[in-house]
Amino acid sequence: VTWQSVLDVLFPPQCAGCNVLGTGWCGACAPSTPPVRIALPLLRVTALALYAGTARAAVLALKDGRRDVARALGNMIAPYIERGTFLVPVPTTAKRKRVRGIDGVALVAQAAAAIADARVVLALEQRAGDAQRGRTREERLAARERFCCDVASVAGRRVTLLDDVCTTGSTLQDCATAIRKAGGVVEDAIVVAVALREADASA
Ligand SMILES: [Zn+2]
Repeated sequence: VTWQSVLDVLFPPQCAGCNVLGTGWCGACAPSTPPVRIALPLLRVTALALYAGTARAAVLALKDGRRDVARALGNMIAPYIERGTFLVPVPTTAKRKRVRGIDGVALVAQAAAAIADARVVLALEQRAGDAQRGRTREERLAARERFCCDVASVAGRRVTLLDDVCTTGSTLQDCATAIRKAGGVVEDAIVVAVALREADASA
């Protein structure tokens, strides 16, 4: 009997989409279609689903720190992680983490890495004052540097980024830039869901 199995009895996992007991994202609610692939400059993004319906529900549950949902998402993401890569979760804002006490994306990373023979490194940090983007050119440039990366965690290593949702892709790009500056190699990002404009979605 594992501690996890005891927890599962006391607090049964519940689907973020339809509330059925047994798993954080059930077979009926999880996407049955292949992942969505997007090319950003210098970065390939793999998304489990479009940001809508049950995928949106799963992302919101994750933001609430739901461990059962994080485990289910980790299971789904694991097959897309390159063997031996270092998995770097995009850090949640310091404020949100303080409120929830938990970083949902880091939980997904841990669950996925345990299955995929990868290692999680919490290499990125958000700089203070990251929340709003400025209007002047100087402020925009400062916002571009809103992540800093620990050199010892990534230098000379192959890194895969992980995040919950990708909208414009600017957060993933900023994280990739910080990792490259620290000497890491990053070509791939995996996200739970991607929010596309309608024109992109039909392309
Ligand atoms: Zn469900």
